[in-house]
Amino acid sequence: MQAASPIPPAPAPAAHALTLPDYLPSLPLALDVSDCAIVITDEQRRIVYVNAGFERLFGYPLHEALGRRPRELLLGKSFAQDALAHIDEQLARNGRFTGEALCYHRNGDPIWVSLVSNIHPPPGPGQPPDSGCAVVTLTDLTPTKHQEALQSRVLEAMVREVPLPQLMALVCAEVERIAPDVIASVLRVDPEGRLHVLAAPSLPSVLCEAIEGAYMGPQAGSCGTTAYLGEPVAVTDIATDPLWNDYRALFMPMGIRACWSSPIKNHAGQVVGTFAFYFREARGPSNLHLRLVEVCLHLCTLAMARDSAQSRIHQLAYYDTLTQLPNRTLFTEFAQCALATLRQSAAPQAALLYIDLDRFKQVNDSQGHAAGDALLCETANRLRAHLGPGDVAGRLSSDEFVLLLPGACSEQAIATAQRLLDSIAFPFVHQGMQHLPQASIGIALYPEDGADIPMLVSHADQAMHAAKKQPTSHWCRFIPELGVLAQERMAMERDLRQAIARQQLHLNFQPQVLGQSTHRLHGVEALARWNHPEWGAVSPARFIAVAEDAGLIQALTQWLLDAACAQMARWRAARLPVPQLAINLSAHNFHDPQLANQVGAALARHGLQPSDLMLEITESVMMDASAATTANLHALHARGLQLSLDDFGTGYSSLSHLHRLPFSELKLDQSFVHDLQGSDSATALTRSVLSIARSLDMKVVAEGVETREQCEWLQSHDCAVMQGYLFCRPVAAAQLEEWLAAQ
Ligand code: C2E
Ligand code: MG
Ligand code: MG
Repeated sequence: MQAASPIPPAPAPAAHALTLPDYLPSLPLALDVSDCAIVITDEQRRIVYVNAGFERLFGYPLHEALGRRPRELLLGKSFAQDALAHIDEQLARNGRFTGEALCYHRNGDPIWVSLVSNIHPPPGPGQPPDSGCAVVTLTDLTPTKHQEALQSRVLEAMVREVPLPQLMALVCAEVERIAPDVIASVLRVDPEGRLHVLAAPSLPSVLCEAIEGAYMGPQAGSCGTTAYLGEPVAVTDIATDPLWNDYRALFMPMGIRACWSSPIKNHAGQVVGTFAFYFREARGPSNLHLRLVEVCLHLCTLAMARDSAQSRIHQLAYYDTLTQLPNRTLFTEFAQCALATLRQSAAPQAALLYIDLDRFKQVNDSQGHAAGDALLCETANRLRAHLGPGDVAGRLSSDEFVLLLPGACSEQAIATAQRLLDSIAFPFVHQGMQHLPQASIGIALYPEDGADIPMLVSHADQAMHAAKKQPTSHWCRFIPELGVLAQERMAMERDLRQAIARQQLHLNFQPQVLGQSTHRLHGVEALARWNHPEWGAVSPARFIAVAEDAGLIQALTQWLLDAACAQMARWRAARLPVPQLAINLSAHNFHDPQLANQVGAALARHGLQPSDLMLEITESVMMDASAATTANLHALHARGLQLSLDDFGTGYSSLSHLHRLPFSELKLDQSFVHDLQGSDSATALTRSVLSIARSLDMKVVAEGVETREQCEWLQSHDCAVMQGYLFCRPVAAAQLEEWLAAQ
């Protein structure tokens, strides 16, 4: 029994008698037509009359009801005694009761009713409650109650975070319980306009399969058309409706004759799904169906909006937005699950590949971020194309990708790495510009190189760094020594940072002589030196690379410019015959738009002329003839600084660069000089370098001249300038001054 709501007594009957027109039905007939159940009892509350609506609602014909008490007939045995007492009290006080009650059909089915009971005539003060007959009207509330139950069940499941397909299956099942004459279905509409079955628990599976993946359209059954039009579509007879031409032959033999579908829209008004009722006979929706659909559409909209918000949050939290690959968190989770499964197998093994693009920063800096993004997406796609079932891929940071290959042995990992490298290296065109991407891959194997994912990732990363340093192959397998190296490297980075800040580096100088005679000097090259308190002299080849990787090169160059210019200024002041001082710049310096200003400022601080310096740039600077690099070269040249192409012959700089860019000098790499005796190809190459330089009006400086033979060969081939141990090793400034004095 629900809460009763007392209402004021009925108004007194009208004074004049009511006469009905002839065409209206007689009163008993009118009572029988009503949907409500009407019961009249005598003073003992025994039934003396029920209308036809009573039999329709509760299943008792008049003769079975007569003489019985309504509360015994309709209320269950479990009906609370205090609720009954409440009804009696209301009737006694007001002569009237209104409220809700749970009654039972003759067959035992529960029926929620709204109940209005009036005593006639209303009892006077002090009269006993049953001093009159009672007229009771009962209205069926069951559909409303069902809808409330449906709503609260679905909402409660939503709160429990039940996944969308199960939630939609619950909606269908509840609806089919309330309206057993329908088969309910919920479809999802994807952004391409295809339909996917989210739930249709009572629809035969062949029909679900036929719907799955079908496109919406102006004549695509009820749901496909609803999705297309964004409006409800009621097909009352599938047999004849042209909307069903493509599906009729499949659905009719399964007993489906009608289908009424309504669109589910998101907050932006886009159709994201459909909710449909299938009927087993040719018909349209009833009032109950209409009410149910109204309720269900709200529930479906809510559930789908929540689901798409959740998947968006999930996507943002766990996937890289650019490439749509899992991010570090999700990759680690997936990969750990894969390892856990693998550990159950007889011979668990796996490989982790760490993939890093070479020179990615240059692409970003020189061609802009759009080009960089396109390259990353293309790389991710090429990576995806190599994924086998069970493989897990992810993007860890800007140009670093990882791939776990469960079950792979060393050979398989290497083969995959090689295939990946080939695929990544395939030329790629972005906005008319061709790129030749290249990657390096480090490989760590489970279980020998690491017992868990973080360890495997860290070791594969170390192997990748080792791969980058290799001259030929671009992949490398982890070995424990790499771990030691990585630690050393970190220590070196830490100490180098300190050494630069505390100005603990110093310069050595090596003369460059004109011809065989050491009397005439072409210039002096400044070479950086670092004496570590524990490790002793660290090779510049090593610490320069560390400075480049650790972002310390700008600070190092700033120190270098200052120290070199200061020394040159001292020599100028002392009138020492040093025509020019060569200093080495790193490729990384050329990405800094302030480079030319930095050099200019150093010259000015020490009162030097631009012609006092020669800037040596290794061929690798040319490998990325990026806009920033080229602009720097021209800006330096415009300031009157001279440029020298260092280590010529070791890189791949194209000859076109040589003649387009303002180099005045070319330094023949020491490997050529070293091979002059004994290697025909070295002599042939050296000869052609010398003749190219001559035709471009560039001076050639031969590096690493150690023997008299080398010196003589070079001289006889018109190589003007030489530098090497034969003449003088790189030495401190004071020693160089002594050497100069001795000449
Ligand atoms: P580099 O510019 O090609 O310098 C010449 C290298 O050859 C120097 O090595 C020098 O000591 C060495 N060398 C000179 N004559 C001979 C010879 O007759 N035989 C042999 N075997 N070697 C000879 P170093 O000083 O170890 O420098 C290595 C590289 O480190 C340099 O190559 C240069 O690229 C880089 N580097 C040195 N100092 C700096 C610096 O201050 N800044 C930058 N960015 N790089 C520097
Ligand atoms: Mg040099
Ligand atoms: Mg060199």
